[in-house]
Amino acid sequence: MTGKTHASCGFLVGALTTQYLQTDVFTSVTIIILSVISSLLPDICHTQSKFGRRFKILSFITRLLFGHRTFTHSLSFIATIIFLLYLIQTPVYYMVAIVIGMISHVILDMLTPKGVKLFYPLRINVVSPIHFKTGGLVDLSLATALGVGALYTLFQPYINHLTQQWLSH
Ligand SMILES: [Zn+2]
Repeated sequence: MTGKTHASCGFLVGALTTQYLQTDVFTSVTIIILSVISSLLPDICHTQSKFGRRFKILSFITRLLFGHRTFTHSLSFIATIIFLLYLIQTPVYYMVAIVIGMISHVILDMLTPKGVKLFYPLRINVVSPIHFKTGGLVDLSLATALGVGALYTLFQPYINHLTQQWLSH
């Protein structure tokens, strides 16, 4: 999937998390930023990705050590990040946003023909039975749908309020 699709999905994850946890404005903004970043994080192994371009050296090292879509797209990577977040005593709501953001990335990449090495270091490729080409029409529609979903989730209380007002007239 393209960075855009991953970021939109991270945005939706963030929006749903803030709604579910009923967080205040500051926490909500932080949650959304964290979930968007973490939804892009697994592609650090890709030197041409949004992250890879920004952190060239880190990206190069990750790619050299593990290759693309291996360790950073696996359960062992997610477990490592959870452990690190736990060590620095990350508040639970930030942890939830980061972890679900990363999981959303892995799930979306399973929907591409290339799949992911979910059980790395085991070299088993996991691909969803239904998969789409990266950058294709489905990818683009998915990005749009996820983005619209995120905006709707965020502004749902206002939308409901407005419709109620409109209906009562
Ligand atoms: Zn990826």
